[in-house]
Amino acid sequence: MSHANPLLDFSTLPRFAEIKPEHVRPAVETVLREARAAIERLETLGESARWDNFVEPLEEIEDRIDRVWAPVSHLNSVMDSADLRAVHDECLAALVNFNTDVAQNEGLYRGFQAVSDGARFAELAPARRKLVENALRDFRLGGVALTGESRQRFKAVSERLSELSNRFSQNVLDATDAWSMNLTDPADVAGLPESALDLAREEARARGEEGWTFTLKAPSYIPFITYADARELRRRIYEAYVTRASETGPDTGRFDNTSIMSEILALRHEKATLLGFANYAEYSLESKMASTVGEVRDFLLDLADRSLPSARRELAELREFARRLDGTDVLESWDMPYYAEKLKEERYQINEESLRPWFPLGRVLDGMFEVVSRLFGVTVRPAETAQRWHDSVQFFEIVDGGGELRGRFYVDLYARAHKRGGAWMAECVNRRRREGSVQHPVAFLVCNFSPPVEGRETLLTHDEVLTLFHEFGHGLHHMLTRVDEAAVSGINGVAWDAVELPSQFLENWCWEREALDLVSGHHESGEPLPADMLERLNDARNFQAAMQMLRQIEFSLFDLELHSTFDAASGRPAQSVLDAVRERVAVVTPPAFNRFPNSFSHIFGGGYAAGYYSYKWAEVLAADAFERFRETGIFNADTGRSFLVNILEPGGSRDAMDLFVAFRGRKPDVAALLRQSGLAA
Ligand SMILES: [Zn+2]
Repeated sequence: MSHANPLLDFSTLPRFAEIKPEHVRPAVETVLREARAAIERLETLGESARWDNFVEPLEEIEDRIDRVWAPVSHLNSVMDSADLRAVHDECLAALVNFNTDVAQNEGLYRGFQAVSDGARFAELAPARRKLVENALRDFRLGGVALTGESRQRFKAVSERLSELSNRFSQNVLDATDAWSMNLTDPADVAGLPESALDLAREEARARGEEGWTFTLKAPSYIPFITYADARELRRRIYEAYVTRASETGPDTGRFDNTSIMSEILALRHEKATLLGFANYAEYSLESKMASTVGEVRDFLLDLADRSLPSARRELAELREFARRLDGTDVLESWDMPYYAEKLKEERYQINEESLRPWFPLGRVLDGMFEVVSRLFGVTVRPAETAQRWHDSVQFFEIVDGGGELRGRFYVDLYARAHKRGGAWMAECVNRRRREGSVQHPVAFLVCNFSPPVEGRETLLTHDEVLTLFHEFGHGLHHMLTRVDEAAVSGINGVAWDAVELPSQFLENWCWEREALDLVSGHHESGEPLPADMLERLNDARNFQAAMQMLRQIEFSLFDLELHSTFDAASGRPAQSVLDAVRERVAVVTPPAFNRFPNSFSHIFGGGYAAGYYSYKWAEVLAADAFERFRETGIFNADTGRSFLVNILEPGGSRDAMDLFVAFRGRKPDVAALLRQSGLAA
């Protein structure tokens, strides 16, 4: 029997073709009403809370909410409409509200404590114990264990912080939107590729301007700073970009984030100290794979020290090249990307466009499935689904060597109107076991490749092939899990600094001959990628690797120092922390007017506070894990099985460091990443 509201039908895959905006609110209201009623009962259990009567019903509630919301959130991203967006935003606010209430619920906190203190706790399966431990940790980090005045203060600080973070991000957006540069003389746009000029022409037209208009948004800014021959104009756009939301530059003071940053840092510090941490970085690390501030600092400084000699060499080379090319003597910040691109072209004679003929999309998909099949002994094959949201969507299933279904996924590959840009993996259904039967995981894999034109198959750049592997790596983490509790199955519950391991790990196969023979095939001749092209591709991969490494380390250290050495008394401004970091790890010093921290939304507006190092951390994990394959053969089935059993299957049910050690036989070592980047001594 099919339910009248398709969103409340939990018996099948989402009925995408039937879901209408008018179904969303009733469905969300229904599950939230049921959830609140159930929680009212559960929060009074107190001492008698146990796994069966307390955690299990809570998990059931969460799963029903997820299963209603996953397709709604997905459709809002890939089939946007005004009606859907309105109801999506409204219901999202209700869900955020609900989640905040749950996170602050003392009765539930006491319930988890009772489960954890109960005589039977030790008998629970490890995944269940981990789930309970995570819940208790999150309640504590949310301030629920505080009492009296400090609890009130914690709440007030948290609310003010979320307000400030929003204002920070809004200022960055407004400052980005406020500036533009209109050019009408063709000489001013010399050097720019056709695609950048098209975009600029369209921007000008939309504003009723002549010629070409450039903005500070990435698709406009990046090509201009990289390709425009006009040096003074590069300087102009650079200055506008790096002074956004600050007290200087072309929009001086209009969207200034300086005082917001100071207040955010002070309040984060206070929040951490209310919970007994010495600083906010310690608070942030409490739920991460890295354990101490010192460990992260040593990790970053070690990488920096090992990259510095190569970075100095790369910079000297670039200077020499600029001098040779057009007599430029002093290399300014607005010159670096320009000359770097020219040097790269001269040295490797390879660009992304020239690789497309070897990567027809169908071949790449089949090849990627074959790679995964050899690695993990699974089969990926097309599957039946009753309903999709668009004709171009494909559906697959993953079956293991024993014939057991492990997971299923939708693939939505092409860019189109009303679809959000970028690429991502999202969860549709989480794996869990209920009354003895397994609910199999389902994933969404979304990309924005050019659609086929006039029956000609889409040809990918190598960069796009990497994107596909990256997202499929996340997908495998979600789908190959064997954990039966949704909150710690697949990517759920995985520490922030470890979650990019499987995705970056899988990218490695895109650089290997044996794998590329499966993945590439010329769209006319069927020939795999020629050896000389692969060689140049691999050489170009590490172009200026040391300088790029140091840039990321500079951001990471700045973030870490800001959140670990905060001193309310001196009110040490962010800029001076940055100066000190640059002194230690940078080879390029930006001009004095650079106000990069004022638009560093990752840490002031988003969730990366004292966590920006996670990018590098996960890269080290991925490179080190891959090196075991390099040692044993990139398609070694035993090594593949070990990664499957030790990393993918346990998902978030065990500590990320323990899992890594189980796979690698030791803790992560930065040497593999250095070797991969061509920076090993
Ligand atoms: Zn990712």
